[in-house]
Amino acid sequence: MPPADPTPPYLPGAPYVAYRDGELWVEDVPLAQLAREHGTPLFVYSLAALRAAAAAWQQALAGRDAQVCYAMKANSTLAIVQALVQAGCGVDIVSGGELARALRAGVAPDRIVFSGVGKTRAEMRAALQAGIGCFNVESRAELEVLDAVARELGVRAPVSLRVNPDVDAQTHPYISTGLRDNKFGIAHDEALDAYRHAAALPGLQVVGIDCHIGSQITTIAPYLDALDRVLDLVEAIEADGIALHHLDLGGGLGIEYHGEQPPTPQALVQALLARLDARGHGGRRLLFEPGRSLVGNAGVCVTEVLYLKPGTGKNFLIVDAAMNDLPRPAMYEAWHAIAPLRPRSDLPAIEWDVVGPVCESGDWLGRGRRLAVQPGDWLAVGSAGAYCMSMASHYNTRGKAAEVLVAGARSQLIRARETVADLWRQERVLALD
Ligand SMILES: *Cc1c(COP(=O)(O)O)cnc(C)c1O
Repeated sequence: MPPADPTPPYLPGAPYVAYRDGELWVEDVPLAQLAREHGTPLFVYSLAALRAAAAAWQQALAGRDAQVCYAMKANSTLAIVQALVQAGCGVDIVSGGELARALRAGVAPDRIVFSGVGKTRAEMRAALQAGIGCFNVESRAELEVLDAVARELGVRAPVSLRVNPDVDAQTHPYISTGLRDNKFGIAHDEALDAYRHAAALPGLQVVGIDCHIGSQITTIAPYLDALDRVLDLVEAIEADGIALHHLDLGGGLGIEYHGEQPPTPQALVQALLARLDARGHGGRRLLFEPGRSLVGNAGVCVTEVLYLKPGTGKNFLIVDAAMNDLPRPAMYEAWHAIAPLRPRSDLPAIEWDVVGPVCESGDWLGRGRRLAVQPGDWLAVGSAGAYCMSMASHYNTRGKAAEVLVAGARSQLIRARETVADLWRQERVLALD
């Protein structure tokens, strides 16, 4: 790839998402070409970026007994999961639907871990029949049900307990999961008792311990706090005669959306390994469950400017992508970079609120953004690889966007745009009088 332009508009994802020759490219494909070919809104991902992100985690763990399990709820599109599985990742799933997708993507079942507070009996059965590596159990009640389901099938379910270390990940309250008041995990002071209970159930095989403290975490300190709390438990549990084969430290590593400087996987893992070594746990098998940090900055969403609506108080820029495609601003007031595919110098830049067509005041993608644009121009919404398409909905009877994966100068449609017929396929018109 030739060098990028010197002062491009701001958009994370370099070098895979970058300006050259006055326009925005993903790897060696100009985004305008893809927008013309496939229409908008359009998600575009870089295969090289996915592979580089997986390699960063794996290289950080080189020489250790470790497995990176991609938390596929971040982006569950089959080809994306396939790409990460082919790059050597296992998968962290949170539903029977994700189990089916993970298997379809070709992951070895023993590299699947199953998280989530509300697994149903049917989901447990499917996961046991597939032979997954570990259930991350989140409550005593779930232990009982899993034990019963496993015994019905004549197997033993491999389990970790997800413990709640009660540390503050210092992130948005909706994506913080390690505090005492969250619905997730088993409280630290109940964990030893829960492990004794699990070890006594004949349908269960205790294999590890698990924690996941939140998402978009941009400092190392909360991870070290959580690790210390988990290691205290590991020592107490093993002193009680229950062996823990692996330690799952969850996901949650943040990415750059807007100038954040999260630690690299290398820096985070190094700090954790140093603490593990110092406390004499260096030889233990490790699992990580990153989602966002594997896919977030590997993707952008291309949208077309529909209308300019200047006003006395605010100027609105209406685009064809909306909260149903990119739910993070509406859900978390999240900030995503928004930049033109082809920056113009023939128009003045004005401050706009960038909004979608959906009938909700919460349907905005960015506020107070300086942009020089006209109707028909294309914009890229940055950092759109994680928690965008996987959270997309059909609100306002809008079909889901198309998705394209780029590899070098080649590109492949990995999800066709949904039609109205797709949307109402399961509906039946009124037949009663
Ligand atoms: C969502 C989730 C992850 C991934 O979180 P990221 O912030 O995307 O890395 C990992 N483990 C569990 C249990 C999760 O719920």
